[in-house]
Amino acid sequence: MKIFSGIQPSGQFHIGNFLGAMKNWVVLQKENDCIFCIVDLHAITVDYPPKEMPQRILDATKDALAVGIDPAKSILFRQSDRPEHAELAWLLNTITNMGELSRMTQYKEKAEKHQESVGLFDYPVLMAADILIYKADGVPVGEDQTQHVELARDLARRFNSKFGQTFPEPKLLLTPTKRILGLDGQGKMSKSNPSSTYIALNDSPDTIRQKIALATTDAGNEPEISNATKNLIGLIEAFTGKERAEYYFEARRQGTIKYSEMKPELAEAIIKELEPIQKKRAEISDSNVKSILSDGAKKLEGVAQKTIKEIKEKMGLVI
Ligand code: ADP
Repeated sequence: MKIFSGIQPSGQFHIGNFLGAMKNWVVLQKENDCIFCIVDLHAITVDYPPKEMPQRILDATKDALAVGIDPAKSILFRQSDRPEHAELAWLLNTITNMGELSRMTQYKEKAEKHQESVGLFDYPVLMAADILIYKADGVPVGEDQTQHVELARDLARRFNSKFGQTFPEPKLLLTPTKRILGLDGQGKMSKSNPSSTYIALNDSPDTIRQKIALATTDAGNEPEISNATKNLIGLIEAFTGKERAEYYFEARRQGTIKYSEMKPELAEAIIKELEPIQKKRAEISDSNVKSILSDGAKKLEGVAQKTIKEIKEKMGLVI
């Protein structure tokens, strides 16, 4: 399969990004043709500090390399280094309805928090262009991206029926840990929420212990298991396996669960999993990252330009 996925350089990556998307990238790169992108043009659709952006781009790439993206197996590049993404987004804009973009839940949520802009509104079309320009068949992302991948499929189908068969319909590839909640149990874990609600990939062992110790749970004996508790037991499953998660679910059902036992177990498991990632990350230099990104963009030049040429011909723009 040809795989495409992206991640925004908009702050620290957390275990939600890791479990929902990045860990799956590492598995998929073993047997597929993978393209992974640092989507800086997406990151500028909300308020951001321009002076910090270059470092954020370097850091995001380091995180991707540290979790195990191998530039010898996969292509890792930065979105704005390939101008064909923005060009295809414009062409796709002409077959996108205002209504379908207005229904996007991520747009509605972000528009409430940030200034509304045409860029924020058009975010899903740029994402469709990211995927379709490489004619990807699979898109490994977290559940919050379902609606966006659906739009990419709709646009592929619409383009094909209007202008002739061009794009495969990209499939959504979800992981078992497709939606990790924040440590407060309120909505998805996100880097735009307070740092106490997420575990960053580069949090120190003590910070991880503290954050998990303060994570919200229910009292342990109400009839309903709270979402916050379910989420923590889900993290136990992700970091230590099914058996320990079943043990804690059973204890919770019996009303005998001890969070004072479960939380340190979870914290130590996260620390153990992140330790080699943090070690690897510290060894990657900025200059190494820059050359990986520019090599990646060069490798994609031919295929990206070929798709643009084909589309322009089909749309009647070649004279
Ligand atoms: P964020 O939402 O933190 O800004 P991005 O939009 O850059 O992160 O998302 C990068 C990838 O991580 C996407 O595939 C997204 O679906 C996934 N992801 C983000 N948050 C979560 C979460 N809480 N649980 C599972 N996957 C997530």
